[in-house]
Amino acid sequence: ATPTAVMVATGVGANNGVLIKGGDALERAQKIKYVIFDKTGTLTQGKASVTTTKVFTGMDRGEFLKLVASAEASSEHPLAKAIVAYAQHFHFFDDSAPKDAESNNKDSAVSGWLFDVAEFSALPGRGVQCFIDGKQILVGNRKLMTESGINIPDDVEKFVVDLEDSAKTGILVSYDGNLIGVLGVADPLKREAAVVVEGLSKMGVRPVMVTGDNWRTARAVAKEVGIHDVRAEVMPAGKADVIRSFQNDGSTVAMVGDGINDSPALAAADVGMAIGAGTDIAIEAADYVLMRSNLEDVITAIDLSRKTFSRIR
Ligand code: ADP
Ligand code: MG
Repeated sequence: ATPTAVMVATGVGANNGVLIKGGDALERAQKIKYVIFDKTGTLTQGKASVTTTKVFTGMDRGEFLKLVASAEASSEHPLAKAIVAYAQHFHFFDDSAPKDAESNNKDSAVSGWLFDVAEFSALPGRGVQCFIDGKQILVGNRKLMTESGINIPDDVEKFVVDLEDSAKTGILVSYDGNLIGVLGVADPLKREAAVVVEGLSKMGVRPVMVTGDNWRTARAVAKEVGIHDVRAEVMPAGKADVIRSFQNDGSTVAMVGDGINDSPALAAADVGMAIGAGTDIAIEAADYVLMRSNLEDVITAIDLSRKTFSRIR
């Protein structure tokens, strides 16, 4: 392709909301053999919402949600934001929830209604931990509970498994050493996700899903979207290793992601594609930015490269 052809293609991309950082990136996309998709915020809308709360002790639901939201309030994680929003709504709008005098104060709607927490820490790939009233609270996945020596009773395990089999993420809560409840969080697929996965397969490109989420939820989501190759329970640092494992035989690998967690993988990939609505760090690490945050543009990008470079092959 001539420099002019590359310039024209870059312009065509830009007009379609596909920003390409240079001619090399444009050229590499024609050879893509695998597209590795992040799950949350990439294949899914990234709009998590709480669908289920289950308290396994005598604790009142409002009290349970207040505890969990207090622990999650300092976390930036999308799951944490979904939980805090849900608990806040429950606290202020559910008639059965006890209200304090400041309930109508706008500031208190942000955090004033929560318990004070001490020694907060976010545990990447696991959840959060802190102390409320001198007692430890943990909110996160099984790994978090197991590593902290919290027993997961059979009825709780069964409840979590059922959530996961219906593509939801189960979040476990322990307080003072005991498993007290579970929340189910759903994050719907993007409308175009399944069509894009099918389209890539028809182009001879193999779609793969990678996620920090658990295997059951991951398999359920992958099944819905039509992806057969899944890597789950990948720790934040591990996504780049997944990319490298696909590059081992010399294949050209693309990564599509939106999160801070995805940036090492976006950088490691031959072609990194960041979702425009994603974090700045992901956008910086990528070769392509999909400004419309629409997965159809993964196909647009590959097509554009193939068309631009087909004449010299
Ligand atoms: P990804 O962004 O690929 O889903 P993460 O590494 O961010 O992966 O999270 C992996 C898992 O860790 C989540 O699915 C959840 O089970 C747990 N987790 C992480 N942060 C939190 C949090 N703040 N609250 C509850 N669970 C969390
Ligand atoms: Mg993501």
